[in-house]
Amino acid sequence: MIQTIKKYCNSLTEYSRYKTREVKIGDVPLGGTNPIRIQSMTITDTMNTLATVEQTIRMVEAGCEYVRITAPSMNEARNLENIKKELRARGYTVPLIADIHFTPNAAELAARIVEKVRINPGNYVDKKKFEQFEYTDQEYQEELDRIRERFTPLVKVCKEYGTAMRIGTNHGSLSDRIMNRFGDTPLGMVESALEFERICEDLDYHSIVLSMKASNPQVMVQAYRLLIQKMEEEGMNYPIHLGVTEAGGGEDGRIKSAVGIGALLEDGIGDTIRVSLTEDPEYEAPVAIALANRYKNRPNHNPIKPIAEVPIDPINYKRRETFEVSGIGGSIVPAVVADYSSRKISSQKDLIDIGYKYDEASDKWFLADAAADIIYLGNQNITFGLPENLKLIIDYNEWEKLDSKKLRFPLLYRNDYLKAKFFSDQINFLEVKISDFDEELSSRIKSDNKLVLVIITDNEHGMAEQRRLFFELISQGIKNPVIIKRDFKNISLDEIRLHSSTDFGALLIDGLGDGVWLSSETNNDASKSEGKLKLVKESNEKFINRTLFGILQATRTRISKTEYIACPSCGRTLFDLQETTEMIRKRTEHLKGVKIAIMGCIVNGPGEMADADYGYVGSGVDKITLYRGKDIIKRSVPSSEAVDELIDLIREDGNWTEPSGNNIY
Ligand code: SF4
Repeated sequence: MIQTIKKYCNSLTEYSRYKTREVKIGDVPLGGTNPIRIQSMTITDTMNTLATVEQTIRMVEAGCEYVRITAPSMNEARNLENIKKELRARGYTVPLIADIHFTPNAAELAARIVEKVRINPGNYVDKKKFEQFEYTDQEYQEELDRIRERFTPLVKVCKEYGTAMRIGTNHGSLSDRIMNRFGDTPLGMVESALEFERICEDLDYHSIVLSMKASNPQVMVQAYRLLIQKMEEEGMNYPIHLGVTEAGGGEDGRIKSAVGIGALLEDGIGDTIRVSLTEDPEYEAPVAIALANRYKNRPNHNPIKPIAEVPIDPINYKRRETFEVSGIGGSIVPAVVADYSSRKISSQKDLIDIGYKYDEASDKWFLADAAADIIYLGNQNITFGLPENLKLIIDYNEWEKLDSKKLRFPLLYRNDYLKAKFFSDQINFLEVKISDFDEELSSRIKSDNKLVLVIITDNEHGMAEQRRLFFELISQGIKNPVIIKRDFKNISLDEIRLHSSTDFGALLIDGLGDGVWLSSETNNDASKSEGKLKLVKESNEKFINRTLFGILQATRTRISKTEYIACPSCGRTLFDLQETTEMIRKRTEHLKGVKIAIMGCIVNGPGEMADADYGYVGSGVDKITLYRGKDIIKRSVPSSEAVDELIDLIREDGNWTEPSGNNIY
């Protein structure tokens, strides 16, 4: 069904920034025509003035244009004054943002000191009780009246002191009222912010920034799109702060952040970014900067044919309908293609990088959970025996000459395909770009139920061009599976990770794509690594395979490993979150599909754990509370025993397996 899309960006084919109103935050304005601003949050104890000042300075030096500091109570809110004074004395004018949960009085004090306050509409007035499950209209209105009463004083202080405010919704901490009426949906997230926003409008206060964060990039992207649709309907245009919460650290944290933030930036959405990693905050800014920099020259991209009607729903996920061709498409998880066209394969050992380990003694292959499904060989062939699940793609001219074509399938280009007389009777791959499409090709593709399309692009705005091609296929009723192929050249590994996460991720979260194929040449130069993420010497194929599986995991289109939902930590954190996350990861990383949350504090942690299966939450000095889903299982476990107890809990539920000892990676 084709529906007319409700506007959530300027264009899906021509890059341009979605224009919001300018909001003054100290002397660094946000929104309007200002560049995409970079920000982060300190993780020091706010009462430790010196540590907070020094960390803030490191963040500014790393590129942060705003710095957020937690103010959990009046004491911390008061100490913001000392922090600000010291920073100014040292010549740093960076605008400061107070992060507030649950404490209106701290917010009202902080708003007199710093340039911006961030409130969470899910917990500014409400405490989570899960007590009432049905709200009558009258009860709901009474709650809104109560919010107005408690929230109005803060708005008045902000107006008086020229302080900006972020109304920052988190998917994991919606109020009972919102949950009961809207569920934990993108609509619930948007309504949660707009309830507060409408009060600001009534009070003629407009220095507002909005955010819709979630740890699931798909939910987060849908919520931001819906937010813009709703703002358009209500005549609002407030700047947008982008972020994926609890993204974790390392490669996974970067991939998850790039999928969510990048998908929105591609459509011109977003005025400021915070990348949340479970790492020191000065490592976040380089990632955010790399994401934002990609759009500096984007308006000059080659034109893409505009589209008036969009055949997908941007707010509700639905995978594009395709038929299956020998294990690709249909309801099968997206396939991963490993590109070996520029690496000679001489023995079984060459396949270990993509998850295949051969044991000579038993003549058996062992597969990793993240083993590629298809290998593209270019014009070479493999002479040794292969596992039955693996498919090889070979250039058509070479493939045609093969005596044995078992597990080997041809890659064709438009003209070969239209002329060729001989095809595989199982699968044929056709590499096409948008400009290849005409009536002749479309009708051939439509009638070919053994054909998988491999779509490529050389447009600077490549994701949008490939998405435009998907729209064309849907509109024409073409249901052949599609492998998305991208080719990145002359960029660093860090950039490949972020760009591919953005470009594949943006399509996958909209249900587009039955496979991913990334080919790139990189020098794997460790000196060019950003921040904390140090490069290891490894082959391109290994790096790419891990990245592609990471993207599929982040988009939740194919789960191949444990998922960690770790908060970035802040002044409330009561243990070393980075070290603990690493310790838990080491012991549980073989538990495919299990979601484990590691959260720094009991105040916000449980709310922000999203849909984790298990939670490890700091609840006091040296004390951990363990959760199964949203339920507390054990309180006040000494931290020295908490990881073992967590594993016991996983074991009790039958979700534990022993590490195989056959760890291929
Ligand atoms: S969950 Fe983590 S980042 Fe959030 S408030 Fe608690 S310690 Fe800070």
